Amino acid sequence: MIFLGFRAEGPAIYLAQPAGLGVISIRTQPHVPAQQSDAIVLRMTPWSETSLIGSLYTRDFGKISVVAKGARRPKSPFEAALDLLSVCRVVFIDKSSDSLYVLTEAKLSRRFRTTGGELLRLYCAYYLVELLEKLTDQHDPQRELFDLAVDTIRQLEHSESEVRSVVLRFELQLLRLTGHLPSFRLCAQCGCEVEAKSGWLTYGPLSTGVLCNQCSSGGRQLMRIPIAVRDYVEGFADTAWQSIPVTEYVEGHRATIRAMMIKTFTCMLDQRLKLHPYLEELGR
Ligand SMILES: [Zn+2]
Repeated sequence: MIFLGFRAEGPAIYLAQPAGLGVISIRTQPHVPAQQSDAIVLRMTPWSETSLIGSLYTRDFGKISVVAKGARRPKSPFEAALDLLSVCRVVFIDKSSDSLYVLTEAKLSRRFRTTGGELLRLYCAYYLVELLEKLTDQHDPQRELFDLAVDTIRQLEHSESEVRSVVLRFELQLLRLTGHLPSFRLCAQCGCEVEAKSGWLTYGPLSTGVLCNQCSSGGRQLMRIPIAVRDYVEGFADTAWQSIPVTEYVEGHRATIRAMMIKTFTCMLDQRLKLHPYLEELGR
């Protein structure tokens, strides 16, 4: 049910929705042109009998919240384009506000499908969604990150790619592109050159990087990592991510690398990620 009305900030459309969710207003401004972009579907949930509400990670506008009216109708104009992890071309009305954008078109470019329905790859794809939801801001476009995410989804579909490399590349590149890359050479606290002791380094996930002897003293949640692990992981943060090989993965150190990444994200976000317990196989 749609009501037209006015608010202080301008004309608005009020949409009735299921009980308990309150009233959401979608501000409208006349003459606002429709915007289009490529997008990855991060989340879509029923909002009313006929509509969906959700989150898209778009190439040109960053993460946006949208309402897709009529998307649950049998002959929806969106068809299957709004399935989770679908890559699609969307048209929406950009309000330049925090309100929901109204999706007017979504054309499917590619749908996510794992070969043989491998569960691990599916969980890894959900993990990509969780990371994009947690580490990116609304309306903050990063085309390189979008391209990386699309390539990661594609790699997760292919059984030739090594899923551990695909995930590690995404994690490290996401950290780099969002300004959270761990310091691998200089002490994350004092900035001095860190020297390895007998081939080992101290990694501090709370400080997001390696630590010198002085700064690591008395620190919490510290990890001892072989220098080879630092060098290997650092290679996945290379700025030319397109040339990082994702068809092979180091044999040893897998558990250490996983622990390092899990602790890094857990400390940074100050919470456990939902998908981490489902990805234990990546450390084997
Ligand atoms: Zn230091």
